[in-house]
Amino acid sequence: MSDFLRIFALCQIFASVPVFADKIALLVIDVQNCFLPTGNLPVADGDHVIPVINDIRRKYDNLFSLVVFSQDWHCVDHVSFASQHSGKAPYNTVILQYNNEGMLCDPTSQCDVEYNITQVLWPDHCIKNTTTAEFASNITKKNSDFIVKKGYHCKIDSYSAFFDNGGFSHTQLDRKLKENKISTVIVTGLALDYCVFYTAKDAKKLGYNVYVVEDATRGVANSTSNGAVKDMNNRGIHIIQSDQLEDIMDKLTSLGNILQGLNCFWYIVNFVITVDLVHSLASL
Ligand SMILES: [Zn+2]
Repeated sequence: MSDFLRIFALCQIFASVPVFADKIALLVIDVQNCFLPTGNLPVADGDHVIPVINDIRRKYDNLFSLVVFSQDWHCVDHVSFASQHSGKAPYNTVILQYNNEGMLCDPTSQCDVEYNITQVLWPDHCIKNTTTAEFASNITKKNSDFIVKKGYHCKIDSYSAFFDNGGFSHTQLDRKLKENKISTVIVTGLALDYCVFYTAKDAKKLGYNVYVVEDATRGVANSTSNGAVKDMNNRGIHIIQSDQLEDIMDKLTSLGNILQGLNCFWYIVNFVITVDLVHSLASL
């Protein structure tokens, strides 16, 4: 093989290398009326996340390939509600038992218990098709944003926006992120110690690069929030503040630009050599 053909083959290989530019999604977890201070499951200062998230969108929306809003969406008699467990009050815990197909075992009937899941009992909240389940009216939301509903199975809770608490069923979120070739997720919203925490953990398990913007979240309680932050740190989830995002977005997107630039360079070299080759063959 001549040197010329070797270079031509090499350029073909380089030009065909795919570009792995970081594609970034913003996840806005459960910023709904029910979790605001006036809601039926209020998170202290939950409304304070709204201007922070709106500011993130104002500055970086053009760098997000996708913006996702998760929406807690419960049946009126959802199993996570204290009102459905006699003698129990909100914030008590119970053990819920499920068989290997994810069916809730009724203590009065025959059932092979495969999984025991500890469930915190909550006040009735985010009941589907009610105003409490609607997104906060002053959060920036666009028609192009993707909405993923969670917690819609009546007999199992779902903190994560990816899976229910037993991992029996999944939402549309992972498929949507993969369709959009997302590699990095930036997680914001409510509440830091439950739905943000479980969503971030599942995102990490699924292989995404995960950032949690701490000042764009609030927790139900300090002790569980501190535990969640420690756990996320140990898993390699980046806990950041919104004022660090400028540098982070710059790094994530500039790496993509360098890779795209390199790919573009090899395409140009490839084109020039191909034209030269055609001319050489034509003159034979
Ligand atoms: Zn809920």
